[in-house]
Amino acid sequence: MAAPVETPSVEVLQVTLNKSSLGESCIKTLADIKNQLRDLETQVVALNTPTNPMSLGNTGLLSLDPSPDKLPLYYQLLDCYTWTEKVHTYSTMMHSLLGSNNLKRTHIALSLSAKRRQFKVQYNHNVSQQQVDTVIQSINLMFQDMTLNVSRPFGNNAVIQVTLGRVLRAVVTFKGLLIEWVVVRAYNEPLLDEDGKVDLYTPSQYKVFQKVTDNANAAMLNFCSPGFSDLSVRSFFTWLHSFASLFTDVCKRCGNHLHNHMPPTWREFRTLDPFHEECKP
Ligand SMILES: [Zn+2]
Repeated sequence: MAAPVETPSVEVLQVTLNKSSLGESCIKTLADIKNQLRDLETQVVALNTPTNPMSLGNTGLLSLDPSPDKLPLYYQLLDCYTWTEKVHTYSTMMHSLLGSNNLKRTHIALSLSAKRRQFKVQYNHNVSQQQVDTVIQSINLMFQDMTLNVSRPFGNNAVIQVTLGRVLRAVVTFKGLLIEWVVVRAYNEPLLDEDGKVDLYTPSQYKVFQKVTDNANAAMLNFCSPGFSDLSVRSFFTWLHSFASLFTDVCKRCGNHLHNHMPPTWREFRTLDPFHEECKP
């Protein structure tokens, strides 16, 4: 019985054909690349070398000074020049970024027409003590379970000690009618430091109130509008008052009291709806 003759099947032929066409296209591409590289090389050779790429005017003469102690001066100058250029570029970028930041809290009027209008603008960081007291008293009357005590331990600017139900205490530092800083602590944490002065900075030892402090400072910036400062102060304290039910509210999204062992520490600015930190929209 004769052994069967091995004839290449159709598939094997197909693969061989594909391989050869792949090889051809590779060779073609490589040839293209080689041609383009040759073009690039000839063009680079044809380029003129720049005579003095960083001309600094007459200071260029420094590089000709033969005394060895002055020789590095020119190169230091070049470095300095590059550095200044970079600073200029970065500051231009920063200027445009900061210009679009709508949380700025001062009136910096740059244009001429704005300068003329400046006389009518009321500077909210320089208002009479009486005006601040009036605003605080009106807020005191708005809420039964929130008391605001005004003190002035550092001169003209008011420091408000807030007691909200039996939930929390807060210290709100004012500059004129602008809120500068907020610290929220638990009801049982002291408001005064060991010297008997109002403690403006020590954060709460509880994570819940540290989070509420962060959110209160965000709210303070959100509500701040230098043109309507008493309205913004009122809005802020209305927002802060919504924490009276901090430990009884359920989250608007997940419907639970606790999430990651924390109550809903976020309140929507407009609706005052409670949300957990992870659930907030
Ligand atoms: Zn939630």
